[in-house]
Amino acid sequence: MPTVYPCVPGHEIVGRVNKVGSAVSKFKRGDLAAVGCMVDSDRTCPECQAGLEQFCPNLTLTYNFPDKHLGGVTYGGYSESIVVDQRFVLRVPSNLNLAGAAPLLCAGITTYSPMRHWCVSKGKKVGVVGLGGLGHMGVKLAHSLGAYVVVFTTSPNKEK
Ligand SMILES: [Zn+2]
Repeated sequence: MPTVYPCVPGHEIVGRVNKVGSAVSKFKRGDLAAVGCMVDSDRTCPECQAGLEQFCPNLTLTYNFPDKHLGGVTYGGYSESIVVDQRFVLRVPSNLNLAGAAPLLCAGITTYSPMRHWCVSKGKKVGVVGLGGLGHMGVKLAHSLGAYVVVFTTSPNKEK
């Protein structure tokens, strides 16, 4: 789908809940919350019924996607506010550094998911190619899961 302008990107979102709808039960005004790359799905297709909303043919992505509720397109994390179905909102513990927590919503899950799939744990070896946005997250997650971690980089200044 081509970009629709104006476009407000951003899919590693951390903020405070400002309002809740009458059917919202998981959050209240003032709660710290986080949102990744999805804000809604149809809830009825086989994928949604199986808890695999990321494969829903009628999902709504966080930004630049047709907004079923407000019209127009969705605006992402750089907008002042965003409307999200509570099923796609995560609770953020108050002891987390918010700027440090935001990358968990994309770089974090992108690297954590395959590590879970491949059962990364103590005694396993994980190679990370490049120490950038995803790479640094991969190193931290693999290390905390107990793996032996090796980074491949062409930037000697990142060795330390
Ligand atoms: Zn669905």
